[in-house]
Amino acid sequence: MKVYNTLSRKKEDFVPLEEGKVKMYVCGPTVYNFIHIGNARPMIVFDTVRRYMEYKGYEVNFVSNFTDVDDKIIKKAMEEGVSAQEISQRYIAECKKDMEGMNVKPATAHPLATEEIDGMLGMISTLIEKGYAYPAADGTVYFRTRKFQEYGKLSHKNLDDLQAGHRDIQVTGEAKEDALDFVLWKPKKEGEPYWESPWCEGRPGWHIECSVMARKYLGEEIDIHAGGEDLIFPHHENEIAQSEACNGKIFAKYWLHNGFLNIDNRKMSKSLGNFFTVREISEKYDLQILRFFMLGAHYRSPLNFSAELMEAAKNGLERIRNGAGNLQFLAKNSKARQMDDREEALWQQGQEFVDKFEAAMDDDFNTADAISAVFELVRFANTHTGEGSSEEFLQNLYGRIQLLCDILGIILEEKEEILDEEIEGLIAERQAARKEKNFARADEIRSLLLAQGIILEDTREGVKWKRA
Ligand code: AMP
Ligand code: ZN
Repeated sequence: MKVYNTLSRKKEDFVPLEEGKVKMYVCGPTVYNFIHIGNARPMIVFDTVRRYMEYKGYEVNFVSNFTDVDDKIIKKAMEEGVSAQEISQRYIAECKKDMEGMNVKPATAHPLATEEIDGMLGMISTLIEKGYAYPAADGTVYFRTRKFQEYGKLSHKNLDDLQAGHRDIQVTGEAKEDALDFVLWKPKKEGEPYWESPWCEGRPGWHIECSVMARKYLGEEIDIHAGGEDLIFPHHENEIAQSEACNGKIFAKYWLHNGFLNIDNRKMSKSLGNFFTVREISEKYDLQILRFFMLGAHYRSPLNFSAELMEAAKNGLERIRNGAGNLQFLAKNSKARQMDDREEALWQQGQEFVDKFEAAMDDDFNTADAISAVFELVRFANTHTGEGSSEEFLQNLYGRIQLLCDILGIILEEKEEILDEEIEGLIAERQAARKEKNFARADEIRSLLLAQGIILEDTREGVKWKRA
């Protein structure tokens, strides 16, 4: 299996640190809102990497954090007049619902930054003892970037160029020794969450969180560290500096980065009005279509999102589902039980598509080519089956399609349609919950229905609903 390593800028053979095991860390979202479809890309592609590794027989320890203390969370909490924790808890729960809809497996561990403060204080103290960090007069702790000789090795940046970029900051006279030094711990501001520390009451910098959580849940050396390409610099560069300076070991062997998702060929942004949350997309499409769309491109390429491309993904997925459904239908009605010699030979021949699929995935997870192999398999199955086919042959073919779709995290069966009576029942239950001021249950029912594509509208005449 070959993987492209940002560190070497080459495809390398994947050799795990420990035979049969993979230790993998993926930087998770900052939880201050519903996740957007850009955030969904690393979730889907690295979940697929994980699934493929598991298919290959590796035991994968997959860790992905939630950044639950951050300026944006604090800002949102102040706007709503609630605690930062309330905001982060709310959007972690919502994020998990979206992950379920996209069939992204829960990680082995989903650590929260706010629950790992002790570990961060420990790592910062070690860095100070080793001379890699220092507290400034106001209690801010900085990492001494130039002391880490290999700084820049991941982003392939040169310290002097970075220095030039920082010149204007330097003249303003900072408390830090060098413009390149970055924050490990910062003092609290009025009204912000804070923790006690030897340096000041404050909170951790973002980069130290991941170094600490990766070490705690996976160890000092890990196989794969992943995230979006915007994280290469400074986030991942800083993680390397902190972890390697502290532990004296190579932090991660392979660094994988997904390309960006754009909308109608433009950067997604709220101000351009081309910003979509996963939840909004789920009101229009089965999220399996979003997943299928994302995997239609190589994970390192930029990916453009548009209504036409989603329609194309919808049709593509339907072709696979129809083909598979047809096999199930034929199997239910078939007369012959076992494969005959001709079917046996075809079954052997069809292994070719599995080999193609694996070859594509072994080449740095080329899911686009892997999907082509699935299409070819479906076409092959359509061509060589009919009313005279044996049940065994049909079921085997179905199983083979399902096996490949499972690796991609694509669910073959379409969601069961929820019946009108069930919807009405849930709406009545929601009204009752609201009357009792049990808003948590009422919200839960709304989300439950939304997950089934049912949109509720509270009007003066009562609750109206429609199918998305
Ligand atoms: P954030 O919450 O901004 O820290 O982002 C969480 C993850 O989503 C990171 O791995 C980002 O690199 C990734 N990400 C954010 N925006 C996009 C985008 N438009 N396309 C692809 N990945 C993205
Ligand atoms: Zn991170």
